[in-house]
Amino acid sequence: MVIYDNHARPINYLRISVTDRCNLRCFYCMPEEGINYLPKKELLSYEEMERMVKVMAKLGISKIRITGGEPFLRRDLMPFLRKISQTEGIKEIHITTNGVLTAPHIPELKAIGIKSVNLSIDTLDRENFKKITRRDELPKVLHCLDELLKNEIAVKINAVVMEGKNIDDLIPLAELSKNAPIDVRFIEEMPFNGEGNHYPVLLWTHKKIVALLMSHYPEMYKLIDAANSTSYNYQIPNYKGTVGVIAAFTRSFCGTCNRIRVTAQGVLKTCLYDDGVLDIKKLMRQGATDEELTQVLLKAFRNRAKDGYEAEQMRTTQGTFMESMSTIGG
Ligand code: SAM
Ligand code: SF4
Repeated sequence: MVIYDNHARPINYLRISVTDRCNLRCFYCMPEEGINYLPKKELLSYEEMERMVKVMAKLGISKIRITGGEPFLRRDLMPFLRKISQTEGIKEIHITTNGVLTAPHIPELKAIGIKSVNLSIDTLDRENFKKITRRDELPKVLHCLDELLKNEIAVKINAVVMEGKNIDDLIPLAELSKNAPIDVRFIEEMPFNGEGNHYPVLLWTHKKIVALLMSHYPEMYKLIDAANSTSYNYQIPNYKGTVGVIAAFTRSFCGTCNRIRVTAQGVLKTCLYDDGVLDIKKLMRQGATDEELTQVLLKAFRNRAKDGYEAEQMRTTQGTFMESMSTIGG
């Protein structure tokens, strides 16, 4: 079964933020202090998430990304991953992690059949990592990268590009794609940091990031992007991996968007830029049947904003974004 939204886009990809908690404090994602984590009962339980996945799989969701906060901070994540990997209709599970606690779980991730891991690394310089994430954890993250490669789990690096913070780190990060099959993805910074806009205008747009890469790698060439890809992908000749740029702020990929999100609070977002269109947790806890959930989900899928700009217009909370990416999941 494939469900198409009201703009003829198939929906088959669900991203679940399993916790809003994190062991890092990335500058672009969370304030350094004063974070009010959700009480545990405000999170979807594993049983609720499993039920939600089952209902959505019947509606054509076949790909899932587990994210957070830091997903490996949530207790008993591995049995949950195993369970959803066995759900009929679910063909691929991917994980986004900061890599601090991930390495010991890698053999089990491999055994479960996790398709790929996105590892967030914004710099390879330990001091700068400490400044950006406000924690001294780079060695553990790099160990995680080594273990992923050793276990032959496909790996992408996510790096948010930040004026005045990691511009000199972009080429060393791109170099990770030289000797290993690593896809390095540079992401435009979005204003989801729990504090509002960091800049009056975004300086490091995808165009400027590509120009910087081009100036360093004049022979870099464009690849044909996979359908529904959010990144513009490039090959540096003779490199084993690829580099790519994600226009997350300038929102140029909305026309083929196949993804929906469920936040750590159990709220459905059919666009990254909306402020939540359906409270799945509330419905479940009020006793909705699977059939009732199916009907309200279908209605939400068929009422999607055309793009991130329209979704922003439709927000009930107008003005500055005050959410943190840790509840949305990236
Ligand atoms: N903690 C995990 C991690 O960092 O990979 C998973 C959750 S994190 C919210 C998911 C992704 O969102 C990360 O790759 C992170 O770099 C990205 N992200 C967070 N805040 C962002 C922002 N304001 N703009 C762009 N990307 C952001
Ligand atoms: Fe934590 Fe990921 Fe947000 Fe960094 S980006 S603070 S690692 S949730």
